[in-house]
Parts: sequence; structure tokens; C-alpha cells
Amino acid sequence: MTLLDGLATSRQIKTEIALSVEKLVREGGRPPHLAAVLVGDDGASLTYVTSKVKSCEEVGFRSSLIRKDDSVSEAELLELIAQLNSNDELDGYIIQLPLPKHVDEKKVLLAIDPRKDVDGFHPENVGRMVLGLPCYLPATPGGIIELLRRYQVPTEGMHCVVIGRSHIVGLPMSILMQRNTIPGNCTVTITHSKTKGLDELCRQADIIVAALGRPEFLKGDMVKEGAVIIDVGITRVPDSTKKSGFRLLGDVEFSSVSPKCSFITPVPGGVGPMTIVTLLQNTLQARLGK
Ligand code: NAD
Repeated sequence: MTLLDGLATSRQIKTEIALSVEKLVREGGRPPHLAAVLVGDDGASLTYVTSKVKSCEEVGFRSSLIRKDDSVSEAELLELIAQLNSNDELDGYIIQLPLPKHVDEKKVLLAIDPRKDVDGFHPENVGRMVLGLPCYLPATPGGIIELLRRYQVPTEGMHCVVIGRSHIVGLPMSILMQRNTIPGNCTVTITHSKTKGLDELCRQADIIVAALGRPEFLKGDMVKEGAVIIDVGITRVPDSTKKSGFRLLGDVEFSSVSPKCSFITPVPGGVGPMTIVTLLQNTLQARLGK
């Protein structure tokens, strides 16, 4: 069994990005600049945004964290987005989800300039991804593809079962795995909460991408010998032995699944760091594309 070490791989990619930034600056250019908009004070969202901002510093990017109160109106948020769109000193930005209930997420998403949409969520980027045109790949699926590429995990002709069909993980993952590329060329089954016979489908899979958000859902008896397992889930479960009061669990029961697989991502240290690094790659792409 080989551990797909997202932490080590992300460090390697950060070094590569930092070298590109150094070259850019040495030649008189402005470093890439990423902004993150955080609405409210949800602990998990704050943790994600903080680590994105910290990663920017590590590779020599400029970063801006824009915080708004939970009570921010939709109009105020749209005005902020218009400002970010027209700021020539800013290459890309992300709006950390979820947003408060009174704000229409779709409206906000559509207002983002696709050229600055480094999360790859705007319909224009999604459409370009589907058609195999240059685009910003959504960060989590993009990071998984990069991990598979760097470990040279065989995917061609394999049966890939994706568990979950969210717009940010499961659905784009299913599209990327069936493309005529390396990694890619899988036969993909996308599954969701209404899928019947999921256990049996999983047992037939050569590759499983678990992205449903239910801790330790995938057990050893649902996995065939030699399968490749990508665990996207991150759930905080209470743990009084930890200083933080919680620990992170993936969607895969690592103890029963890992002895059976050829490759597996750990949680933490698998998909999470690769997600952040893809955001950095997209921001560099936005900067250099100018
Ligand atoms: P989501 O809640 O938007 O979607 C979950 C999907 O799982 C839905 O399509 C649903 O139909 C499906 N599902 C739920 N129960 C199921 C079941 N019993 N059987 C089959 N399918 C089922 O979640 P999301 O935003 O895609 O995130 C999924 C998980 O991945 C969460 O734990 C989230 O925290 C994590 N996540 C991690 C990263 C990362 O960087 N590692 C990034 C994004 C999300």
C-alpha cells in the first residue's frame, strides 16, 4: 500500500510556485495577489481561509483577507465583488462558502469575473472544464488529479466510483476522471444519497473517490483488493483529548480499508493540502495569463 502524501506533494508544488514568483519579481513584475472574502465567524471556515492566506505568504504571493459580519447584505457583498473585479492589482479571489441564508449564493457566484474565479466555480469555468478548454480547475478535484499524476497512479480503463455529486467536489471529479487525458480515461459511476446498491458498486471499483461528508462511511468490506482510495471527507468530531476539542475524520475507515488498497490518501494530510495548492496554482495562472 502506498500512501498518497498530499502534504509532502503540496510542499514540493509550493517550492515550484515560489521559484516562479521569485523569477517574476526578479524580472520586475508584481507578485500574484489573492484575496479571500470571509463572511461571519464560523470556526471551520476561518481555519480554511487562514491556511489559504498563510500558504500565499509561504510562496511569496500577496494576500488580503476581507472579513464581513454575518449581517452583511447581499447588495453590499455584490458591491464588494464589483470592486474586486475591477481591481487591477488583484489576480484572483475566493468567496468562502457557505454564505448566510439571506444571501443568494448563485447570484454571488455569477457576479465573480470568471478571469478572477480561482476557485473555478463560475459557470464559464465549469463549462470550459467540461469541454476540456483552458480554465481554472475547481481546487479539490484539481488537487486530486495532480496527486494522481505525480504518483503516476494508473487510471486508464479503470472503473472509478465517485461518492457524492456536489458542484465543488463529486460532480467535477466525475468529469475529470472520464476525460481523455492522463490521469483520466476512467469509466465513471457517480453516486449520491439516492443511489441503490452502493456497497456493491464500490466493491466493483478500481478507484473510489469518497466525498459525502459522513465520517468513516467507507469500510473495508466495501472495497476490493488493490483499489485506489481517495478520501475527500473532513468532519470535525468532538475529542476531549485534543487541545482543539475535536479531531478530523475522513469518509473512509482507514484501519479497515488501507490494508486492502494499492494507494490511499490519509486524513489529514491527503486531499486537504492539495486543495490549497491548486488554489495557489490557479492564482499564479491568473497572474501569468495577463
Ligand atoms: P455536500 O454535502 O455538498 O455533498 C455531499 C454529497 O454526498 C451529496 O451529493 C449527497 O448526495 C452525497 N451523499 C450523502 N450521503 C450519501 C450516502 N449515504 N451515500 C451516497 N452519497 C451520499 O459535500 P461536499 O461539499 O462535496 O463535501 C463532502 C466532504 O468533503 C465533506 O466532509 C467536506 O468537508 C469535504 N471537503 C473536503 C475538501 C478538502 O479540501 N479536503 C474540500 C471540500 C469538501
